[in-house]
Amino acid sequence: MKLDSMYQELILDHYKHPHGRGLREGDVEVHHVNPTCGDEITLRVKYDDGTLTDVSYEGQGCSISQASASVLNELMVGKQVAEAQKTQETFLELMQSKGKIEPDEAMEEVLEDAVAFAGVSKYPARVKCALLSWMAWKDATAQALEALGDGAERKSA
Ligand code: ZN
Repeated sequence: MKLDSMYQELILDHYKHPHGRGLREGDVEVHHVNPTCGDEITLRVKYDDGTLTDVSYEGQGCSISQASASVLNELMVGKQVAEAQKTQETFLELMQSKGKIEPDEAMEEVLEDAVAFAGVSKYPARVKCALLSWMAWKDATAQALEALGDGAERKSA
């Protein structure tokens, strides 16, 4: 696997020094696994008045899956729900690009360190590693919003 060395270093740095690792109080807890690689994550989200105030997690697996959870924590905590969801969608788009998206400035502004995973998108087997915590976050957020009765689409007429 050949990745841009600066990006590779960023990923390794998050792997060695994870941001916000450990389980803390949360509204919802989810557990996701990536059977193809053996990665696991337990993730909790905490929302306060529409702001994501914490993403706490414990996990094990390859450096990409664990670094990705660290990047998610750093990037997402403090964001409003809608902004966080947009960030997740942008990351998903990048990861599903099969290496065809070269992150531009606008994308870097949204994704910050997460652009480091751009090169990973060329390797289908590793895309699931990078997305594990992000899909767990999406799942947990959907559940949290539902519990709050805040899921706009679910509001009955
Ligand atoms: Zn993995």
